[in-house]
Amino acid sequence: MIYLDAAATAPARREVLEEMWPLLTATFGNPSSHHAYGEAAATHFSRARSRVAGLLGCRPSEIIFTSGGTEADNLALKGIALAAPRGRHVVTSAIEHPAVLEALAYLRTFHGFRVTIVPVSETGLISPAALAAALEVGTTLCTLMYANNEVGTVQDIPALAAVCRSAGVPFHTDAVQAAGWLPLDVDRLGVTALSISGHKLGTPKGIGLLYLRAGTPCEAVLHGGGQERGRRSGTENVAGAVGLARALELAHGALPGAADTASADRDVFSGAILDGVPGSILTGDAEHRLPNLASFCFPAVSGEAVLLELERRGVICSSGSACAAGSDEPSAVLLALGLDEETASTAVRFSWTQDTPPEDLRQAADAVVAAVGTVRSLGTVRSLGAARSPGALTDA
Ligand code: PLP
Repeated sequence: MIYLDAAATAPARREVLEEMWPLLTATFGNPSSHHAYGEAAATHFSRARSRVAGLLGCRPSEIIFTSGGTEADNLALKGIALAAPRGRHVVTSAIEHPAVLEALAYLRTFHGFRVTIVPVSETGLISPAALAAALEVGTTLCTLMYANNEVGTVQDIPALAAVCRSAGVPFHTDAVQAAGWLPLDVDRLGVTALSISGHKLGTPKGIGLLYLRAGTPCEAVLHGGGQERGRRSGTENVAGAVGLARALELAHGALPGAADTASADRDVFSGAILDGVPGSILTGDAEHRLPNLASFCFPAVSGEAVLLELERRGVICSSGSACAAGSDEPSAVLLALGLDEETASTAVRFSWTQDTPPEDLRQAADAVVAAVGTVRSLGTVRSLGAARSPGALTDA
């Protein structure tokens, strides 16, 4: 099988698991315990924090380990908004992950926040001018993702963050898909907060982090034993934190070469599909895009049918984002990019890791051309369900 659904989750990397193993079996103590096992675990945990901070160019105390990207997004948005609710107004875009949009829906429903949605271009880019126009005097917080998980468009985070900085508005970015491929230096990016998830990078599921700039007021979301300096209670996932440090070091140590290679492979892969499948559309931005993701619409065929046919041919991919799994509505991200419901319903996404051999992409491209041909010849056209409004959160 050729696995091309790394944006949903990636296999754990051997080097990561090898570094985690002793922390699960020998040095397995609770870092809060006042004995040798606890102290040894605390030392490893603190080293992992320093290693991650080194990669992000921040202080160790600015890293809060979480259970993953969803928790990091929730902590950033609810935590910052509830600590400083001035204005009760947040700014975001329609192409954010549900971990962001649903956290904002919660703030709106239960805490009276207004949410302004900044428009995106048809390739998914957000302009600094559009962001500036969405800010108000006293806006509480802005959150815009670094790289989109469905189409791979990469935002100019330094420019967007600068707009917020000059307006005095805290700026959070969801870097879950960007981590491992794009620069993460938080000062260069100019962000107040940034979320990362381990399982997209080769750790087991259950670890992530929030970078939170020193001095940013943030309410805890999880209450309990006061770990992470009171900002995130719960017994620390020492092995996970060490694994995340290793996974980030491995991925970022291979940059920029790995990103250049993956981008070149991506372009060959995309070119073969665009040439081989008449009418196919590559979604997202042609220039500003993730090296490891390519998403297509194949008009007049069901994305789901292509997915099944590809699996039969040994290629695993996704018909949209796994996070919207269970829903057969067209992707809200693609609708926000201006695609009609029928075209959006034909989306198929391919995503890979730094370890994916280029040969897999070549074989997969051939399989895609053949699979779409088979599905088209069978005449499997998707029947449309009810549309989801991309502007459902807009009330300002
Ligand atoms: N943000 C983005 C952009 C994602 O792609 C994902 C997962 O797909 C998440 C957040 C959620 O991360 P996690 O699965 O670690 O909760």
